[in-house]
Amino acid sequence: MIRHEEVERILAMGPSESPVLSFYLNTHLGRRSLDEQRIAAKSLFRERKLELEARHDHGEDWKRLALSGLERLEEIVLAVVDAPHAFRGVAAFSCPADGFEQVFRLPQPVKDALIVDHTPYVRPLTAILDEYHRICTLLIDRERAELYEVYMGEILHHAEVFDEVPGRVRIAGWYGLEERRIERHVEDHVRRHFRRVAEILFRLFRRLGFDWLVLGGHHEVIADFRPYLHPYLASRVIREFHAEPGETPVAVVLERTRAIEEATEREEEKKLVRELLDRAQSGGLGVVGLAPTLSAVVGGQVHTLVVEEGFSTAGVLCRRCGFLGVSESLCPVCGDSTTRVPDIVDEAVEATIHYGGRVEHVFAGSELSAFDHMGALLRFRLPEKAKQA
Ligand SMILES: [Zn+2]
Repeated sequence: MIRHEEVERILAMGPSESPVLSFYLNTHLGRRSLDEQRIAAKSLFRERKLELEARHDHGEDWKRLALSGLERLEEIVLAVVDAPHAFRGVAAFSCPADGFEQVFRLPQPVKDALIVDHTPYVRPLTAILDEYHRICTLLIDRERAELYEVYMGEILHHAEVFDEVPGRVRIAGWYGLEERRIERHVEDHVRRHFRRVAEILFRLFRRLGFDWLVLGGHHEVIADFRPYLHPYLASRVIREFHAEPGETPVAVVLERTRAIEEATEREEEKKLVRELLDRAQSGGLGVVGLAPTLSAVVGGQVHTLVVEEGFSTAGVLCRRCGFLGVSESLCPVCGDSTTRVPDIVDEAVEATIHYGGRVEHVFAGSELSAFDHMGALLRFRLPEKAKQA
């Protein structure tokens, strides 16, 4: 399972003096065989090595480091796609000067790429990551509980709690007195069980920092249990489903949790796009459309860049000052000539992250489609004069 810290480390990597290698491979066995995957990987490495050998713009040390890094990364990647597997994509990063290497097995296919640069190429990774949430799924009944962590299509069993409820023995002739006493005893027992489960859950939350909580069980039991949840956790419950702790198979828990996650994610994306359009159309802190969004990115105004999944388009970039534009041949900021880039959206994603903003990918075909498939929630608006200057 992909750990939070591992991803943070890649996203936090600033521009480096030494080469940084980023590798992506589509490893979906339904689309290409294991042999085809290995051939695709090898040819990416071969092409990049030939290209590097012909380059002289970075100095010989840089080149030597990059080449040895490619050598080593190729070995790592080929070892990962060595046997039949369930992951559909691989992302790998390395910074040979620091001896840093990290491989991620992804639940979704990615487009093949191998890039040697000063910064890691993170867009495909972030696009996949923000589709997923770290979720805790708790199955509970009156004496049993099971805790699972679900992340990126994988499930981990964390704990099982069993507080056996004393038998409800019916003794004839007691006219209900003893029965009521036993009933009270049972209720005490269930309360203790709920309290214990809530505590274990909260400890797990502090350790894993999950985003959402899904509850499985009988509706009445869940309703009785909910008041025991810590307020932090109560606010993270997204939905419940019918389950029997100790009986519902792990595969079913995973499947139900994933379905709930997808539906919730989709609802949140719809809300985000709606909010963005409301803000943009009322002249508030939001812009939509390619040119206005790029201008907000360059101005460091972006709080959240919102892009439709899979959308890319060509544009221009000023290597001198970082200006991003649609088709300007001269940079309107510094006057230098611009360079054409095949995917300006990717440049916008990197620049947004660089300025400390967030990036959200929303489903294709959202309301944003009518506005060049992208927009941004802003931290502030530049005064009209400053924009013209
Ligand atoms: Zn410029």
